[in-house]
Amino acid sequence: MVCVYCSKKTQVINTRHQTKHNQIWRRRKCSACHAIFTSLETTDFEQLWLVINKKGQLQPFLTDKLYLSVYDSLKHRSSAISDARHITRTVVSLLLGKIENGTINSSLISDTTKVCLNRFDKTASIHYQAFH
Ligand SMILES: [Zn+2]
Repeated sequence: MVCVYCSKKTQVINTRHQTKHNQIWRRRKCSACHAIFTSLETTDFEQLWLVINKKGQLQPFLTDKLYLSVYDSLKHRSSAISDARHITRTVVSLLLGKIENGTINSSLISDTTKVCLNRFDKTASIHYQAFH
């Protein structure tokens, strides 16, 4: 990976496996400008998972689409952007154990999202259920 400030080579100075979210956190240092920044390595689910919608059609799983629906339900909170990011990651982690042959029903995604939102913010869960 190249430096985000000067585009020169970087080296990894610390690595941690984050099993909860199935990702690798890395601290990187630029060999030229000595800037330090963090990178995350995670699975690209959009290339792997297909969603079976209510009509039985297959669609790619879009993390951004999930994030937007969660964010929309949390808009009443001042921390909606970061809350939606954390809840989206939690939903995706929970879906990992429910994937069968690379496909998942859209109803399972919405049910899992409802459960997560209900634990976090009941108003958001009610809002989400009204649209899903
Ligand atoms: Zn640099």
